[in-house]
Amino acid sequence: MVLDIVKYGTPVLRAKGAKVATITPEIKRLVADMFETMYESRGIGLAAQQVGLALQVTVLDVREVTDRPSTLELKGEPADVNEFMPLVLINPEITPLGKTVPGPEGCLSFPEIFADISRPESVDVKALDGEGKPIQFRCGGLLARAVQHEVDHLQGILFIDRMDKKTKDELRPELEALQAETKQRRK
Ligand code: ZN
Repeated sequence: MVLDIVKYGTPVLRAKGAKVATITPEIKRLVADMFETMYESRGIGLAAQQVGLALQVTVLDVREVTDRPSTLELKGEPADVNEFMPLVLINPEITPLGKTVPGPEGCLSFPEIFADISRPESVDVKALDGEGKPIQFRCGGLLARAVQHEVDHLQGILFIDRMDKKTKDELRPELEALQAETKQRRK
């Protein structure tokens, strides 16, 4: 089922996600619905907060993007990113690595707003997969950026919080308009 994606100005986007204790049929349903919702919007990542739930659940799939490479390492060995997709991360913990690099980002909760965001170029990730099995990997490039963006969502952090002041100032009219529109719709 395709779910509604909440937009900037909706309070749940600022809520920290609760850890998932067990992978219930409801969680599996949620994961399936989040994938359907993400693919329909042509996104590469979606967090539970974006469908109105403050839970530590996010889904990712970078296969559609061919012009921005991703890297993956499993147990210290290079691995095929495409074979690792689609990716479910439950209760993820990340450790950023490497230098900070700027790159373009958007967010399904901020339609038509894009900006360069600086983030570490790679991350170590520990999480549970969609079956509740522990997974561990290191990733770089676009996947590392997407993972960091989604893990931020699970903590109630948005990409506008990571923008430099100048960029955010330039986008302020658009952000305020989006927030006002969201509030209007919630009435
Ligand atoms: Zn986002």
